[in-house]
Amino acid sequence: MNFAELAANLDRMEATTKRNELVAILSEVYAACTPDELRPITYLIQGRLAPFFEPVEIGLGERLLINAVAAAYQVPKVEVVKLNKQVGDLGATVQRLAPGGPRDTPDVVDVHSRLSEIAAAGGGGSQERKLDTFIGLLNDLDAISAKHLVRITLGKMRLGIGDPTVLDALSFARKGDRTLRPVLEGAYNRTSDLGLIARTLWDTGEAGLEALKVRAGHPLRPQLAERLPNPEAVIKKLGMVGVQPKYDGLRVQIHKEGQEVSIFSRNLESMTEMFPELVSAAAKLDVTNVILDGEAIAYNPESDEYVPFQETTARRRKEGIQEFAESVPMRAFIFDVMFRDGTDLTPLPYERRFEIARELIRDSETLQTAPLMKTDSADVLTRELLDNISRGLEGVVAKRLDSPYQAGARNFNWVKLKRNTSGQLTDTIDVVLLGYYRGKGKRAEFGAGALLAGVYDADKDEFATITKLGTGLSDQGWREIHGRLSSLEVAEKPARVSSNFVPDIWLEPAIVVEVLADEITPSPRHTAGMTASGPGFALRFPRIVSMRTADKKPEDATSVREIREMYEQQRQPGRNRPR
Ligand code: ATP
Repeated sequence: MNFAELAANLDRMEATTKRNELVAILSEVYAACTPDELRPITYLIQGRLAPFFEPVEIGLGERLLINAVAAAYQVPKVEVVKLNKQVGDLGATVQRLAPGGPRDTPDVVDVHSRLSEIAAAGGGGSQERKLDTFIGLLNDLDAISAKHLVRITLGKMRLGIGDPTVLDALSFARKGDRTLRPVLEGAYNRTSDLGLIARTLWDTGEAGLEALKVRAGHPLRPQLAERLPNPEAVIKKLGMVGVQPKYDGLRVQIHKEGQEVSIFSRNLESMTEMFPELVSAAAKLDVTNVILDGEAIAYNPESDEYVPFQETTARRRKEGIQEFAESVPMRAFIFDVMFRDGTDLTPLPYERRFEIARELIRDSETLQTAPLMKTDSADVLTRELLDNISRGLEGVVAKRLDSPYQAGARNFNWVKLKRNTSGQLTDTIDVVLLGYYRGKGKRAEFGAGALLAGVYDADKDEFATITKLGTGLSDQGWREIHGRLSSLEVAEKPARVSSNFVPDIWLEPAIVVEVLADEITPSPRHTAGMTASGPGFALRFPRIVSMRTADKKPEDATSVREIREMYEQQRQPGRNRPR
């Protein structure tokens, strides 16, 4: 497929706000692909060159791209900067500056491989080489293609193609309907690689997808925990459970393949570079290949105390990793094993997997197994919960001992019990910032008065509003948040946002914020959970607790399904009983 043909379809996608149309156009693109084009196209449409978990970055930011555009189109740089300020989107700016008329554009595989060359360039003079290749590409493309090339390079597609939309489009392209979705989703949960899944479906069909197994080096989507209101409800629903402390650190999936170790975050980003001490501990494990699941938490070796989540995540900055590794080293509490010596362990019961993890780890300072105790008594579970909270932990996770590891599922295999500061058992909600209001008086000085926030609706692959946020941040907090928002501002409501509110400024959904609220209430205006016949949901008295950008993508925010369940749970008698 010619890149111009792909770009014309991307333009069609940009023009629609209807998800069904988006799926239909994307499925037409897939139907017109040759097998070799499937992987590149799948990554390109999401502003990537490789699956999300591979740390491949093109490495040309807006500043460098402006230089490239000025050179390619021979216009003064100040003009590019000025127009870009007016238009507010470098892609659209480039479209205006590019010479008119059609071109014989290269095919998508060629464009993908030239961008990959740019990404791979390193060492002395690499910046010039990157720019030269990019300028060459711009000169080969027509205006619309150039617009999308720039957006791909910046990773800002403005199309609203989330992973569920890709899965639906693949199903439509092969079957004409959505029926392949469950088998596609299963393969996706095990491999997290949409490009691989597309190619496998074309090459070997449904059977091929079923045969795509868990493998070291490919993160699987993490098993997640459900909520129940109190220990009694947990024992009633699950019976005998395994109980573990809930550590407030960072989820880590540790992969070892030969001597190669990789570490992935909760949202499957590569974090290998950040945790050298975990890498060297994992390299010493006596196995050919393995995948472990755990929670990493930084501690102070002087006082032997764990440090708060914020400090644990401070390492995400690239500088000073080695100093961090010495002053606040990481420990990982391992609670699961999904793969060992070539065997997929996910179907085994949890109790057995945990035993295998224990045999494997033989606790070192850095890698330890999370303690596990068994009980079918609500009193014992309550004691465990309170005991862990008094030791400064977040709460407990109760696990069904006979459950398999269900990649990507949030279900009752695992149930989390936490306690908030008011002494009630409730959970926080992770919302995505969708826009903001400028505010008045003092707030206006900080740049943002109130924030419009939403949750993720996986069925519709969209973000639906649930609340406005105005409290919980210090003055400094407001300033900081505004600083982060500026790069996400967009002129119009983004494609995947469903809202009856119109904030002063719309934001590309990216920032996840943890909020605590008193209650979930029905709402005639907020769109979260809204149906043709029923109201949506809103949060009562929401306040910001923390920023969760470190480990959550917007799609990892609390989902509409969870909000509905939490709403049902809070209506049950006995919920949130103060203890
Ligand atoms: P939270 O905000 O509660 O961390 P979450 O959306 O990140 O929520 P949940 O599924 O709600 O994830 O809770 C499970 C999370 O708790 C895991 O992702 C993991 O990071 C953390 N965790 C800490 N200790 C454990 C444990 N012993 N077993 C499983 N998960 C644990």
